[in-house]
Amino acid sequence: MAKVKILVTGGLGFIGSHTVVELIQSGFEPVIVDDLSNSELFILDRIEQITGSRPEFYPYDVCDPEKLRAVFTENKEIKACIHFAAKKAVGESMEIPLTYYRVNLVSLLTVLDIMKEFEVGNFVFSSSATVYGQPEHLPVNELSPLQKSLSSYGSTKQMAEDILEKVSETGWLKVLSLRYFNPVGAHKSSLIGELPKGIPSNLMPYITQTAIGIREKLTIFGDDYNTPDGTCIRDYIHVADLAKAHVNACNYLLTRTDTSPYDVFNIGTGTGNSVLEIVKTFEKVNQVEVPYITGSRRSGDVESIYAGCTKANKILKWEAQYTLEDMVKDAWNWEKSYRKQIK
Ligand code: UDP
Repeated sequence: MAKVKILVTGGLGFIGSHTVVELIQSGFEPVIVDDLSNSELFILDRIEQITGSRPEFYPYDVCDPEKLRAVFTENKEIKACIHFAAKKAVGESMEIPLTYYRVNLVSLLTVLDIMKEFEVGNFVFSSSATVYGQPEHLPVNELSPLQKSLSSYGSTKQMAEDILEKVSETGWLKVLSLRYFNPVGAHKSSLIGELPKGIPSNLMPYITQTAIGIREKLTIFGDDYNTPDGTCIRDYIHVADLAKAHVNACNYLLTRTDTSPYDVFNIGTGTGNSVLEIVKTFEKVNQVEVPYITGSRRSGDVESIYAGCTKANKILKWEAQYTLEDMVKDAWNWEKSYRKQIK
């Protein structure tokens, strides 16, 4: 029997590539569209190395309707889309907001237009915990009110959720919006992982690059928050767990007929860890030093957020499996193995 094809936009990126691996290993046939603007072609070889199967790949920009139409024409078995392709750096989004609104919204609208044309009505959206802002109550659950977004990036995710909900009400589209917390770690094989371009803005790649000596020291952004050690608290989740959540989301969309047209899920571990805890755990587990200093707060940072995930546990039958120790170990192994290869 022909396998069910899933269109994965941004499928060579950090979360996209791990999801492609999980999809293949779960019996799906992913079709990747990725313009390589923030990813590398060799990741495709690595996916093949891990899974023994080379997915169909199109180096297209999903904002181009003609190109996207060609992908759907050639892949009539596409039954669902997981939409990762988007710009994702919070800081950068404050410098070039127009680019963020254009890319993140035009790509979404284009994908939806072409899906409608080809009558493909299942959509998994890559959303973010940033839609919550600083919640009043923790852990934050899906019923918590959304705060006005502090960044243009967060605002594109809020707008996208709004668009998806409204479109789903017209009847042809079913949407699961997955609100990710902080994805870190890498595939166990160390063949794929996070590949930030330039100076990393996220904590974990900054830590791994500092530990390996590319960066002199990490700056911890603020130690005067109202938290036990004064540093910000986040819910870090292993990227392989996050990838599995997408597979469960696809299975849910494709097998259930009694679902609401639009639903949102928190995807985290339910545990909050401070920046300092992450640094200390990284040092202890990997037996390597991470030189750091404490600097001032980073604008736009919320003090503390972690996920209530019972909805995803119950409905998507999904639960994070990996520990914080796994996350820091796998992130470090990937950094070491990647640097060895590019020497
Ligand atoms: N952080 C830090 N130094 C860095 C990068 C990040 O102290 O060089 C902190 C940041 O202030 C936040 C946490 O690490 O409290 C996670 O930040 P990240 O950018 O990884 O994810 P975010 O939660 O902003 O999406």
